[in-house]
Amino acid sequence: MILYNSLGQTKQEFIPYFKGKVNMYTCGPTVYHYAHIGNLRTYIMEDVLEKYLRFAGYNVNRVMNITDVGHLSSDADTGEDKMLSGAKREHKTVMEIAKFYTDAFFADCEKLNIKRPDVVEPATNCIDEFINMITVLLQKGYAYTAGGNVYFDTSKLDTYYVFGNMNEEDLAVGVRDSVEEDENKRNKADFVLWFTKSKFDSQELKWDSPWGVGYPGWHIECSCISTKHNGEYLDIHCGGIDNAFPHHTNEIAQSEAYLGHKWCNYWFHVLHLNDARGKMSKSKGDFLTVSLLESKGYDPLVYRMFCLQSHYRKPLTFSYDSLDNTAKAYDKLIKKISALSKDGTPDTAKAEQYIYSFKEALDNDLNTSLGLTCVYDVLKSDLDDVTKIYLIDEFDKVLSLNLTKNEIKSNNSDNNEINAEVENLIAQRTKARAEKDWATADAIRDKLKEMNVVLVDTKDGIQWHFEN
Ligand code: AMP
Ligand code: ZN
Repeated sequence: MILYNSLGQTKQEFIPYFKGKVNMYTCGPTVYHYAHIGNLRTYIMEDVLEKYLRFAGYNVNRVMNITDVGHLSSDADTGEDKMLSGAKREHKTVMEIAKFYTDAFFADCEKLNIKRPDVVEPATNCIDEFINMITVLLQKGYAYTAGGNVYFDTSKLDTYYVFGNMNEEDLAVGVRDSVEEDENKRNKADFVLWFTKSKFDSQELKWDSPWGVGYPGWHIECSCISTKHNGEYLDIHCGGIDNAFPHHTNEIAQSEAYLGHKWCNYWFHVLHLNDARGKMSKSKGDFLTVSLLESKGYDPLVYRMFCLQSHYRKPLTFSYDSLDNTAKAYDKLIKKISALSKDGTPDTAKAEQYIYSFKEALDNDLNTSLGLTCVYDVLKSDLDDVTKIYLIDEFDKVLSLNLTKNEIKSNNSDNNEINAEVENLIAQRTKARAEKDWATADAIRDKLKEMNVVLVDTKDGIQWHFEN
């Protein structure tokens, strides 16, 4: 498989540390609010990557953290903790907020057919591991204490900006709002590993540590949780592009300083989902959620398909018009598939070349839109129905669009539109027949057939239904 690696900024052949096994880590959600569909774009594409690796025969161990402590709105010793501001907003405790939004996140994932990672670990479960890693970093001279906090000393590294020439815009997003200079830092790029002193001392969750009662910085959690469950050698680390700097840059700094060797080989970053106002972000408040799409009549899997139609390394712009187009395409696809006959035995020998094409598409830096085209190619082919179903089921192990299992639930207005079109064509055909315009009547009959419409002559006139 060829994957684009942010480390080196090139497409590279994927070779795991251990033959046949892939250790994978995903930055999990910060659970102070609902995930928006931008966050979920990232999780959908990571899910496809995980499922494709399994499809290709790898044994995958995927680990995800839940950020239920830490994550400041700014990366300096400034900016309120997002969890704390969420708790204040909803008059709940931080842990209540964390539980509520963690459950909501996994409920959204289920609707989008995003598989739950093998290991899901909340940051608050791992305080001992954070303290241990920070202790080792201090012992090795990679960290220092100042003003009550523990900082990572970036001047001790040969290379800190490992993702090199990422564009300025990406870097700026990662830095986030309101970065003020923290005077305790020896170098501008240094970052906090453990806080005991912060402008926001009202922090609800605090733990005892060798450096005083306090709480961990954000980056340390991912380094610790990954090494705890994936060991010292990580194959693929995933996240949205805004995580590349400073979060992933800092993760690499502290993990490699701690381990004393190279840690993660491949960095998989998903580009942002934007709306008309730019990057969709939780802090902007009114963002789109899966529930909102559902309330407007969309099947969540239509959104999954919308994401798969474009490449994960291209920014994607959301609009209802484009989602409507996907909803129509999804409905048509499901109808075509549900009209296939399930009788017989698949011809697996004939199916092979189609599996090959599907693999070729995904092997090329996860080209999901070409993967979707493979479904259409199968439908158009002269394969028998049951072999088509077999192949589509195989592809759906990765695409997870319920292609052979779904019934049309998506945007009803689209269904109404299709129904209206059918009714209109039937009326035109009746008129053409009455006028003995057989050519037009036949042309309309062929069009209806193409749409899988079955006409039935009854004493009450012509009735119709979709072929199933
Ligand atoms: P958060 O819960 O804010 O920590 O973000 C969870 C994941 O969503 C991270 O991997 C982010 O990089 C990613 N993310 C944030 N905003 C967007 C966006 N607009 N489009 C795609 N991914 C995003
Ligand atoms: Zn992370």
